[in-house]
Amino acid sequence: MVDFEFNDEQRMMQKTVGEFCKKEIVPIVRKIDDEKKIPDNIIKGLANLGLLGMTVSTDYGGIEADPITVGVVAEELARADISCAAPTFFLVQAAWGYILNKYGREAAKRDILPKVTRGKAFLGIAATEPDAGSDLANMKTVAEKSGDKYIINGEKMFISGINEVMNQLPEGGGYLTLVKTDTSKATRGMSLFYIPIKNTKGISPTILEDWGRKGISSGGFALENVEIPKDCLLGEENRGFHITMEGFDYARAIISIVCCGAAMSALEHAMKHIKSRKAFGQPIGRFEGVQFKLSEHWAKLDALRLLGYKALWAYGKEQTEKTVSRFEVTKLCAESKLLAPAFAFEAINDAIQWFGAYGYTVECPLELALKGVRSYYWAEGALEIMKIIVSRELLGKDYVAYR
Ligand SMILES: Cc1cc2nc3c(=O)[nH]c(=O)nc-3n(C[C@H](O)[C@H](O)[C@H](O)COP(=O)(O)OP(=O)(O)OC[C@H]3O[C@@H](n4cnc5c(N)ncnc54)[C@H](O)[C@@H]3O)c2cc1C
Repeated sequence: MVDFEFNDEQRMMQKTVGEFCKKEIVPIVRKIDDEKKIPDNIIKGLANLGLLGMTVSTDYGGIEADPITVGVVAEELARADISCAAPTFFLVQAAWGYILNKYGREAAKRDILPKVTRGKAFLGIAATEPDAGSDLANMKTVAEKSGDKYIINGEKMFISGINEVMNQLPEGGGYLTLVKTDTSKATRGMSLFYIPIKNTKGISPTILEDWGRKGISSGGFALENVEIPKDCLLGEENRGFHITMEGFDYARAIISIVCCGAAMSALEHAMKHIKSRKAFGQPIGRFEGVQFKLSEHWAKLDALRLLGYKALWAYGKEQTEKTVSRFEVTKLCAESKLLAPAFAFEAINDAIQWFGAYGYTVECPLELALKGVRSYYWAEGALEIMKIIVSRELLGKDYVAYR
């Protein structure tokens, strides 16, 4: 009844991406972090393999990849780039490309998706504001309709990919941007727009300096009387929050697999070390104090991989066959994002410990992983918000304290 195997195509994808990562990404992970960018040739390589925006329709250069295949690619990228920059670059575009493909209007899709799939532009999500992250209902950015346009004012902050859009990728890119279209309402007064950022009048970008996952930038952008054609609206007006949550579900499940990939890589790295490094006359891997932690982490890794892939499987089932409910999907995706980042952080932290003082030098790459997975304590929703979502799906909306 339950099949735990990847199908032939997924196995082929795993092999192809794994080989690419081993050859092209593993040797330059430190360089990606030091130079604060994923090199252009890597982005080109990912695009050539059909991995960028891989969820979108073939009409726009995608391969309409299913969520499990997306997970397989994310895991391989995370096993290679343990700093999580390349996996983030990949996953943001896989999840939000899917949402634009599903809900966007033709003009907006034609404008950006072929550039994303060719690795020429970046597509991200802009929901967070300087004063509204977890509490999105409190956002201040507003779009007002004016003829066949919308005029948008406000500010988005802590947004991934700003430097890639503004300075790296030749055709720029933009964001699915969540704004208020009815200020008298909370989440039911929000709409989602595709907003091109580079060369758009009224947009002022800022770049922030993060302490991890440095190969993909963070930043923000202010919008002052930004005019956007009505074709940039996704779905119906005031339905933006629901559409955005569908994207967050997808991104959260992929993030859980990314965390598993980075943790797996760190543990594998550490296993080689504890077999060879000796203390008190024997390899440290013979001490129960080390073995027991390794076993616990590996057991959690196996469990969380299953949960992450189950969340992705459920996402696909709900989208295509409606055989799994939206509530169940949202719960599974939140559960996986709730557990995987903290698990990965602890596993990587112990792996670093086993390296002794060498683990505290930059010669040992694992600090990149520690800092990388830490970003997911917040990115695409804080861990605490995942708990609120899981409880809401278990107990019902009447038990949400913040309404
Ligand atoms: C590296 C990185 C990349 C990001 N990329 C993007 C992006 O591309 N697009 C985008 O829109 N956003 C992005 N974000 C922002 C992210 O979505 C927000 O950080 C997140 O939603 C939390 O919002 P906040 O940072 O404003 O924290 P706040 O909402 O101010 O919350 C601060 C802390 O308070 C606690 N908290 C809040 N509410 C509750 C509660 N009800 N119960 C218990 N504890 C609570 C949590 O510990 C939380 O971390 C990114 C963040 C990071 C770190």
